[in-house]
Amino acid sequence: MQQENEFTKWYLKTIQDAELMDYTPVRGCITFRPDGYEIWEHIQAEMDRRFKETGHRNAYFPMLIPESFFQKEKDHIEGFSPELPWVTEAAGEPLEERLALRPTSETMIGHLYAKWVKSYRDLPLLLNQWANVFRWEKKTLPFIRTSEFLWQEGHTAHENEEEARHETMQMLAIYKEVVENILAIPVYDGTKTISERFAGAVDTFSIEAMMKDGKAVQAGTSHYLGTKFAEAFDIKYLNKNNEHQYVHTTSWGTSTRLIGSVIMVHGDDKGLVLPPKIAPTQVVLMPVGPFKKHPEILEKLEEIQQDLKAKGIRVKLDDTDQTAGFKFNKWEQKGAALRVELGPRDYQNGQAIVKARDEEEKKTVNLTELFTIIEEELEVMQGRLLTKARQFRDANSHTTIDSLAQLQQHIEASDIPGWVLAGWCGSADCEQKVKEQTKFTTRNIPFHPPVQKETCICCEQQAQHTVWFARAY
Ligand SMILES: [Zn+2]
Repeated sequence: MQQENEFTKWYLKTIQDAELMDYTPVRGCITFRPDGYEIWEHIQAEMDRRFKETGHRNAYFPMLIPESFFQKEKDHIEGFSPELPWVTEAAGEPLEERLALRPTSETMIGHLYAKWVKSYRDLPLLLNQWANVFRWEKKTLPFIRTSEFLWQEGHTAHENEEEARHETMQMLAIYKEVVENILAIPVYDGTKTISERFAGAVDTFSIEAMMKDGKAVQAGTSHYLGTKFAEAFDIKYLNKNNEHQYVHTTSWGTSTRLIGSVIMVHGDDKGLVLPPKIAPTQVVLMPVGPFKKHPEILEKLEEIQQDLKAKGIRVKLDDTDQTAGFKFNKWEQKGAALRVELGPRDYQNGQAIVKARDEEEKKTVNLTELFTIIEEELEVMQGRLLTKARQFRDANSHTTIDSLAQLQQHIEASDIPGWVLAGWCGSADCEQKVKEQTKFTTRNIPFHPPVQKETCICCEQQAQHTVWFARAY
């Protein structure tokens, strides 16, 4: 299926052909099949290691949250109440208080932090949770927006604003580093506008990624919550002068929408293209030609498989009796990073054929050099995918559109409207007007904009900020 024509159809077919997910009878809730879940496990491992290196520990909090907890922070309940599913009875009896399936855990964690934090010696408190959360979405798209999804949510408490803000930026930087270096997706880091802020946050920061249809995905967020949740849940500590102070809290999250982003950034008409660092299959070994008549070929491939496994490389040997063409398609759909073919003639010559998933050409390699070449190719492919994604993003990022009329013309004239860097006066009315007329929303105010803009794209008054605008998932 061709991406250019119908991107969403291409996406849905690609994730099903690759057996990453399946639908379930519960609307908006998908199942993660093993290859889909394994991609998540690799992302999880990379994130988790970095969280621990920066002093965080994992904990687990209940999935059910009492309704009264949501009432304590006004912005929080306003932001989340439309999407909450509720448990109202259990064991045949109505519950005294309704329980929400958590959309995020600030309230439950706030309640517990109030018990755990007594003095400055208890701070900072640096916890993370790996969990499922629920947001009953009207419009769903597997991995990108579903009613139940998997994520991590970090929650920290600090003595003062300076430390909490440092934490907020530190975690955003970790997200950026993982998404760029592990998922090979370039991102812009920046500040969310007030209308796009997390419900209850003082400041929300995000990393934003461009998909191959030019739309944006918010790939991770980090929030400075000030003392709002501390006041709502009475999280106080005794400072060194024996005074009671509210803690400053942060929260930060990334989710399984990263899986959807990887597919939408790197995939092609043949199926998945996965960065080697997260590919469930980094190398697929394939006997080709009349290999059944030459048992030495399978023996050699089994030996190579053992050696690659011993080196920690994720390798599969496809010795099924399907045709080579069928197998090529199958492993291309599944996004195996490298394919190694071995046929009778190659074997005689002491050679094998190596092909990277994202390149057209095949390489003939001496068997004696195979391991070195495989390691090199995986490394080079990882970097090449990031470069390609960056080139695509830069080619579809526009910095010379300075009025709503120009933006409308640009959208009409482009197959991929991409992103537009434009000035904004800071008024919610202008932001809303751009959204209504073009479906372009503010993505973030980048920390390092390629250029600074002087005038608001909507009212053409003096700009307060330079902002990325785009259509978003
Ligand atoms: Zn304006």
